[in-house]
Amino acid sequence: MTFDELNLAPAILQAVREQGYDTPTAIQAQAIPVILEGRDLLGGAQTGTGKTAAFTLPMLQRLSQSEAPRNKFNGKGIRALVLTPTRELAAQVEESVQTYGKYLNLTSTVVFGGVGMNPQINKVKAGVDVLVATPGRLLDLLQQGVLDLGQVQMLVLDEADRMLDMGFIHDVKKVLAVVPKAKQSLLFSATFSDEIRELAATLLRDPQSIQV
Ligand code: AMP
Repeated sequence: MTFDELNLAPAILQAVREQGYDTPTAIQAQAIPVILEGRDLLGGAQTGTGKTAAFTLPMLQRLSQSEAPRNKFNGKGIRALVLTPTRELAAQVEESVQTYGKYLNLTSTVVFGGVGMNPQINKVKAGVDVLVATPGRLLDLLQQGVLDLGQVQMLVLDEADRMLDMGFIHDVKKVLAVVPKAKQSLLFSATFSDEIRELAATLLRDPQSIQV
Protein backbone atom coordinates (compact mmCIF):
# COMPACT_ATOMS: atom_id res chain seq x y z
CA MET A 1 0.00 0.00 0.00
CA THR A 2 1.27 3.47 -0.88
CA PHE A 3 -0.12 6.92 -0.06
CA ASP A 4 -0.92 7.32 -3.77
CA GLU A 5 -3.55 4.58 -3.50
CA LEU A 6 -5.51 6.39 -0.80
CA ASN A 7 -7.30 8.90 -3.06
CA LEU A 8 -5.80 11.88 -1.31
CA ALA A 9 -5.52 15.22 -3.13
CA PRO A 10 -2.16 16.07 -4.75
CA ALA A 11 -1.72 19.03 -2.38
CA ILE A 12 -1.99 16.69 0.61
CA LEU A 13 0.25 14.02 -0.92
CA GLN A 14 2.89 16.65 -1.55
CA ALA A 15 2.90 17.68 2.13
CA VAL A 16 3.07 14.00 3.17
CA ARG A 17 5.96 13.39 0.79
CA GLU A 18 7.85 16.32 2.31
CA GLN A 19 7.53 14.64 5.70
CA GLY A 20 9.46 11.73 4.23
CA TYR A 21 6.72 9.13 4.77
CA ASP A 22 6.91 6.22 2.30
CA THR A 23 4.06 3.98 3.32
CA PRO A 24 0.90 4.55 5.33
CA THR A 25 0.90 2.96 8.79
CA ALA A 26 -1.75 0.30 9.56
CA ILE A 27 -4.16 2.79 11.13
CA GLN A 28 -3.68 5.20 8.21
CA ALA A 29 -4.29 2.51 5.57
CA GLN A 30 -7.48 1.42 7.31
CA ALA A 31 -8.89 4.69 8.62
CA ILE A 32 -8.28 7.07 5.70
CA PRO A 33 -10.72 5.39 3.24
CA VAL A 34 -13.42 5.14 5.93
CA ILE A 35 -13.09 8.80 6.91
CA LEU A 36 -13.03 9.96 3.27
CA GLU A 37 -16.35 8.14 2.80
CA GLY A 38 -17.83 10.24 5.58
CA ARG A 39 -18.38 7.36 7.98
CA ASP A 40 -18.04 7.47 11.76
CA LEU A 41 -15.05 5.63 13.15
CA LEU A 42 -14.08 3.92 16.38
CA GLY A 43 -10.31 3.60 16.33
CA GLY A 44 -8.29 1.49 18.74
CA ALA A 45 -4.77 2.87 18.50
CA GLN A 46 -1.95 3.84 20.80
CA THR A 47 0.06 6.98 20.36
CA GLY A 48 3.00 6.40 18.00
CA THR A 49 0.91 4.47 15.46
CA GLY A 50 0.47 7.45 13.16
CA LYS A 51 -3.12 8.08 14.25
CA THR A 52 -2.78 11.86 14.01
CA ALA A 53 -2.19 11.72 10.26
CA ALA A 54 -4.83 8.97 10.02
CA PHE A 55 -7.54 11.45 10.95
CA THR A 56 -5.92 14.73 9.89
CA LEU A 57 -5.24 13.85 6.23
CA PRO A 58 -8.81 12.81 5.32
CA MET A 59 -10.23 15.60 7.50
CA LEU A 60 -8.25 18.21 5.55
CA GLN A 61 -9.28 16.63 2.28
CA ARG A 62 -12.98 16.74 3.14
CA LEU A 63 -12.74 20.35 4.34
CA SER A 64 -10.87 21.42 1.20
CA GLN A 65 -13.73 20.08 -0.92
CA SER A 66 -16.46 22.30 0.51
CA GLU A 67 -17.06 25.95 1.22
CA ALA A 68 -16.57 27.46 4.67
CA PRO A 69 -19.83 28.66 6.28
CA ARG A 70 -19.86 31.85 8.38
CA ASN A 71 -20.04 31.81 12.17
CA LYS A 72 -22.36 34.13 14.10
CA PHE A 73 -19.57 36.70 14.42
CA ASN A 74 -19.33 36.75 10.60
CA GLY A 75 -16.00 34.91 10.64
CA LYS A 76 -15.19 31.50 9.19
CA GLY A 77 -17.26 28.78 10.87
CA ILE A 78 -15.41 25.99 12.66
CA ARG A 79 -16.06 22.86 10.60
CA ALA A 80 -13.73 20.43 12.36
CA LEU A 81 -13.26 20.22 16.12
CA VAL A 82 -10.57 18.00 17.63
CA LEU A 83 -10.61 17.41 21.39
CA THR A 84 -7.49 16.14 23.14
CA PRO A 85 -6.77 15.47 26.82
CA THR A 86 -3.65 17.63 27.19
CA ARG A 87 -2.29 20.90 25.92
CA GLU A 88 0.85 19.16 24.65
CA LEU A 89 -1.19 16.82 22.50
CA ALA A 90 -3.46 19.67 21.37
CA ALA A 91 -0.42 21.68 20.25
CA GLN A 92 1.05 18.66 18.43
CA VAL A 93 -2.18 17.90 16.62
CA GLU A 94 -2.57 21.50 15.50
CA GLU A 95 1.03 21.48 14.30
CA SER A 96 0.19 18.39 12.22
CA VAL A 97 -2.87 20.13 10.78
CA GLN A 98 -0.61 23.01 9.72
CA THR A 99 2.05 20.69 8.29
CA TYR A 100 -0.27 18.46 6.27
CA GLY A 101 -2.47 21.37 5.22
CA LYS A 102 0.34 23.69 4.13
CA TYR A 103 -0.72 23.59 0.46
CA LEU A 104 -4.42 23.96 1.21
CA ASN A 105 -6.31 27.15 1.83
CA LEU A 106 -7.49 26.21 5.32
CA THR A 107 -6.90 27.76 8.73
CA SER A 108 -6.56 26.27 12.18
CA THR A 109 -5.85 27.26 15.74
CA VAL A 110 -5.44 25.64 19.13
CA VAL A 111 -6.92 26.56 22.51
CA PHE A 112 -5.92 25.17 25.89
CA GLY A 113 -5.83 26.28 29.49
CA GLY A 114 -3.02 27.79 31.49
CA VAL A 115 -2.45 30.71 29.13
CA GLY A 116 -4.31 33.97 28.54
CA MET A 117 -7.73 33.74 26.97
CA ASN A 118 -7.80 36.95 24.93
CA PRO A 119 -5.54 35.92 22.04
CA GLN A 120 -7.54 32.69 21.75
CA ILE A 121 -10.83 34.62 21.83
CA ASN A 122 -9.71 36.86 18.98
CA LYS A 123 -8.69 33.90 16.85
CA VAL A 124 -11.84 31.85 17.33
CA LYS A 125 -14.11 34.86 16.75
CA ALA A 126 -12.32 35.70 13.51
CA GLY A 127 -12.90 32.06 12.65
CA VAL A 128 -10.96 29.00 11.60
CA ASP A 129 -11.73 25.84 9.67
CA VAL A 130 -10.15 23.56 12.28
CA LEU A 131 -10.10 24.07 16.05
CA VAL A 132 -8.01 21.82 18.27
CA ALA A 133 -8.84 22.15 21.95
CA THR A 134 -8.68 20.72 25.42
CA PRO A 135 -12.17 20.31 26.91
CA GLY A 136 -11.80 22.68 29.89
CA ARG A 137 -10.69 25.75 27.94
CA LEU A 138 -13.18 25.01 25.18
CA LEU A 139 -16.00 25.11 27.74
CA ASP A 140 -14.66 28.34 29.25
CA LEU A 141 -14.79 29.94 25.82
CA LEU A 142 -18.28 28.58 25.17
CA GLN A 143 -19.51 29.94 28.48
CA GLN A 144 -18.04 33.35 27.62
CA GLY A 145 -20.18 33.33 24.49
CA VAL A 146 -17.23 33.87 22.17
CA LEU A 147 -17.32 30.48 20.49
CA ASP A 148 -19.82 29.34 17.88
CA LEU A 149 -19.76 25.57 17.31
CA GLY A 150 -22.90 25.60 15.18
CA GLN A 151 -21.04 24.83 11.94
CA VAL A 152 -19.13 21.75 13.15
CA GLN A 153 -19.31 18.95 10.57
CA MET A 154 -16.57 16.76 11.94
CA LEU A 155 -15.67 15.94 15.54
CA VAL A 156 -12.62 14.00 16.69
CA LEU A 157 -12.11 12.73 20.24
CA ASP A 158 -8.42 11.87 20.43
CA GLU A 159 -7.12 9.68 23.27
CA ALA A 160 -10.63 9.44 24.67
CA ASP A 161 -9.52 7.09 27.45
CA ARG A 162 -7.04 9.63 28.78
CA MET A 163 -9.67 12.34 28.47
CA LEU A 164 -11.97 10.32 30.76
CA ASP A 165 -9.12 9.37 33.13
CA MET A 166 -8.40 13.06 33.56
CA GLY A 167 -12.00 13.71 34.58
CA PHE A 168 -13.17 15.45 31.41
CA ILE A 169 -16.27 13.33 30.79
CA HIS A 170 -18.73 16.05 31.90
CA ASP A 171 -16.92 18.70 29.87
CA VAL A 172 -16.93 16.44 26.82
CA LYS A 173 -20.66 15.77 27.22
CA LYS A 174 -21.36 19.51 27.48
CA VAL A 175 -19.46 20.07 24.24
CA LEU A 176 -21.34 17.23 22.52
CA ALA A 177 -24.59 18.91 23.54
CA VAL A 178 -23.80 22.11 21.61
CA VAL A 179 -22.40 20.73 18.36
CA PRO A 180 -24.81 19.82 15.54
CA LYS A 181 -26.20 16.28 15.70
CA ALA A 182 -25.57 15.71 12.00
CA LYS A 183 -21.82 15.39 11.72
CA GLN A 184 -19.06 12.86 11.20
CA SER A 185 -17.52 11.68 14.48
CA LEU A 186 -14.27 9.84 15.11
CA LEU A 187 -13.23 8.43 18.47
CA PHE A 188 -9.72 7.19 19.13
CA SER A 189 -8.71 5.37 22.28
CA ALA A 190 -5.94 3.01 23.33
CA THR A 191 -8.18 1.14 25.76
CA PHE A 192 -11.90 0.37 25.86
CA SER A 193 -13.58 0.52 29.26
CA ASP A 194 -17.37 0.39 29.68
CA GLU A 195 -17.32 4.19 30.01
CA ILE A 196 -15.57 4.59 26.64
CA ARG A 197 -17.98 2.16 25.00
CA GLU A 198 -20.90 4.12 26.41
CA LEU A 199 -19.46 7.39 25.13
CA ALA A 200 -18.85 5.80 21.73
CA ALA A 201 -22.41 4.47 21.65
CA THR A 202 -23.79 7.97 22.38
CA LEU A 203 -21.62 9.74 19.85
CA LEU A 204 -21.05 7.39 16.92
CA ARG A 205 -23.58 6.34 14.31
CA ASP A 206 -23.00 3.01 12.55
CA PRO A 207 -19.25 3.33 13.10
CA GLN A 208 -16.56 1.32 11.41
CA SER A 209 -14.28 -0.18 14.07
CA ILE A 210 -10.56 -0.37 13.46
CA GLN A 211 -8.06 -1.88 15.86
CA VAL A 212 -4.32 -1.75 15.27
P1 AMP B 1 1.27 9.71 16.11
O1 AMP B 1 0.91 8.29 16.46
O2 AMP B 1 0.22 10.35 15.28
O3 AMP B 1 1.65 10.52 17.30
O4 AMP B 1 2.56 9.65 15.14
C1 AMP B 1 3.79 9.12 15.56
C2 AMP B 1 4.95 9.57 14.69
O5 AMP B 1 4.95 8.85 13.46
C3 AMP B 1 4.98 11.03 14.33
O6 AMP B 1 6.25 11.53 14.60
C4 AMP B 1 4.70 11.07 12.85
O7 AMP B 1 5.39 12.13 12.23
C5 AMP B 1 5.20 9.73 12.37
N1 AMP B 1 4.46 9.19 11.21
C6 AMP B 1 3.12 9.29 10.99
N2 AMP B 1 2.78 8.64 9.86
C7 AMP B 1 3.91 8.11 9.35
C8 AMP B 1 4.20 7.31 8.18
N3 AMP B 1 3.24 6.93 7.34
N4 AMP B 1 5.49 6.95 7.96
C9 AMP B 1 6.45 7.32 8.84
N5 AMP B 1 6.25 8.07 9.95
C10 AMP B 1 5.01 8.46 10.21
